[in-house]
Amino acid sequence: EIKKLKKINDYEWEIPPRGEMRVPGRVFASQDLIEDMDDKVYEQVTNVACLPGIVRASIAMPDAHWGYGFPIGGVAAFDPDEGGIISVGGVGYDISCGVRTLRTGLKREEVLPVLERLVDELFETVPSGVGSEGEIRLSPQKLDEVLVGGARWAVEKGYGEPEDLEYIEEKGCLPGADPSCVSMEAKRRQHRQVGTLGSGNHYLEIQYVAEVYDRKIAEAFGLEKDDVVITIHCGSRALGHQIATDYLQVLAKASRKYGIPIKEKELVCAPIRSPEGEKYFKAMACGVNCALANRQVITHLVREVINAFFKHARVTLLYDVSHNTCKVEVHEIDGKPRRLYVHRKGATRAWGPGRKELPEAYREVGQPVIIGGSMGTASYILAGTEEGEKKAFGSACHGAGRTMSRHQALKRFRGERVIDDLRKRGIIVRAKSKRGAAEEAPEAYKDVTQVIEATCRAGLTRKVVKLLPLGCIKG
Ligand code: 5GP
Ligand code: MN
Ligand code: MN
Repeated sequence: EIKKLKKINDYEWEIPPRGEMRVPGRVFASQDLIEDMDDKVYEQVTNVACLPGIVRASIAMPDAHWGYGFPIGGVAAFDPDEGGIISVGGVGYDISCGVRTLRTGLKREEVLPVLERLVDELFETVPSGVGSEGEIRLSPQKLDEVLVGGARWAVEKGYGEPEDLEYIEEKGCLPGADPSCVSMEAKRRQHRQVGTLGSGNHYLEIQYVAEVYDRKIAEAFGLEKDDVVITIHCGSRALGHQIATDYLQVLAKASRKYGIPIKEKELVCAPIRSPEGEKYFKAMACGVNCALANRQVITHLVREVINAFFKHARVTLLYDVSHNTCKVEVHEIDGKPRRLYVHRKGATRAWGPGRKELPEAYREVGQPVIIGGSMGTASYILAGTEEGEKKAFGSACHGAGRTMSRHQALKRFRGERVIDDLRKRGIIVRAKSKRGAAEEAPEAYKDVTQVIEATCRAGLTRKVVKLLPLGCIKG
């Protein structure tokens, strides 16, 4: 498979168009990452390149691995004026899964003496685990307000501060959401899940700034060495999953109806300008808003805990990014602005300096891009670039990416042992499921540093700070 790749430069590879491909495939990665990459990624990138209305290229990020239909770490933009499509597989099951990082204004040495108690208190306060339920109970009617309002709904209900909204993509609320496009089943399942972390890969982590790479940008982001931050990773819980499940069926029918050739079951899609495509977009926007509300409510819970320990600490939102979305964005293609539906699955939006949508504080330096590594390794905060907008619609990786399947990891590691080993290194982990901890062993992920180097050297982002974990809560 690798032989089919044409090297453009040290960090950029092309799958030249052949057969039914409408555009080339483009993989951003170092030689080492390419050699380790799952061959399925190339096949999936190629399949996506065959979809109607795709613009410029079918793209894979350095952390790419196999996913349903589209690779995880995949980016593809479609033009509605050219018959472009929208696809469940291009967004993912956990609609708007994403990360947000909170500044605490605290230094590492202040937190270390209470670290264990702090982790325990966060573990008690933020509901986590499979099917976890929170204090907020919402009837389907009440839930509709969440699906339309997103994080704005949460702030109006007292979960958080109005200023938080400024530091969320779309200012906390994606327009176009229509709850009538979401099934009762999806709403019923979400009844008590707003404000819960979920399971497995989702986490709440206490981290500190271990290294500053770019002083100017770090200053704009309000980060200094040894600052303690808290990162929340979760998505739209049962609601998003049910929307995806429901619409896979709708779009399977649509693909046949509109005669779109489908190479893999999860690549089913509908023209953006079709009743089915429009409906999915409206439902997906509900999923996005649900995730934004979810992370906002958790932020409120985190604030309460931090302030119980440190009365005067001011917890502020650095930024909230989603890495499973389809968004309508204007991009310049061959000198002309075009309105595109940009799918990012396991990929983060990474806009460069100047974009008017960015909060004023970051407009000169570019968007904060928050990247998780694993509970035992570094995580990073990067900044978007103009070059990335030209090369990849302003997108970056979203994590280290798995190198082992959950199944393989379970065979290799024992949860208790993983947690013990981390404790010996000073990292306090609390996990609802020991099995989950095994699946999430740091060794089950690629080397995040390599992924970050490749993403930055490809020009997609700039390295701003490195974070190291102090404590982690896993579902
Ligand atoms: P995903 O959204 O694909 O499940 O995961 C995003 C990324 O988060 C993964 O690729 C992985 O690198 C990272 N990650 C998973 N678990 C943890 C964790 O406990 N802590 C941190 N910092 N990152 C994690
Ligand atoms: Mn998720
Ligand atoms: Mn995620």
